[in-house]
Amino acid sequence: METLFAPWRLTYLMSGKPQGCIFCEALARPDDPETLIVHLGERVFSMLNRYPYANGHVMVAPVAHEDRLSASDPATREELIDEIARAESALASLYRPGGFNVGANFGRAGGAGVEDHYHFHVVPRWDGDTNFMTVTGGTRVIPEDLPVTRRAVAAAFESTRGGR
Ligand SMILES: [Zn+2]
Repeated sequence: METLFAPWRLTYLMSGKPQGCIFCEALARPDDPETLIVHLGERVFSMLNRYPYANGHVMVAPVAHEDRLSASDPATREELIDEIARAESALASLYRPGGFNVGANFGRAGGAGVEDHYHFHVVPRWDGDTNFMTVTGGTRVIPEDLPVTRRAVAAAFESTRGGR
């Protein structure tokens, strides 16, 4: 994966680690738009990344505070892959990206920003987006659009079941 130039992430990197678990804190008040949850399932949920690599950067995580995929029961894993498919469909219909990056980092050595509560990133990609973002870098447009993005992505989740 190419490195994206995302200057707004500097705020995150400079602000130190958040207290507590951002996923469990969001789940404590799922209806609060500030938490950026876009879909809450039975065992898994999706929320926007507050410091996105691209517009529509969604994180899919289990409701249970678990640090590894291998710690989740089979029903959770099944719902998780369905949720990722649903995120893919929702973002495809909303943003028409040329592709996606889907992946997870486990543990500090694996590069996880939140080590104790695993999550998959679903990042829409466009041909040439690295160049585009370099050119427009320096502005902080994306974070300020988050409430709008949250409403749009939540609506897109509602209108898809993850199929084609
Ligand atoms: Zn947690």
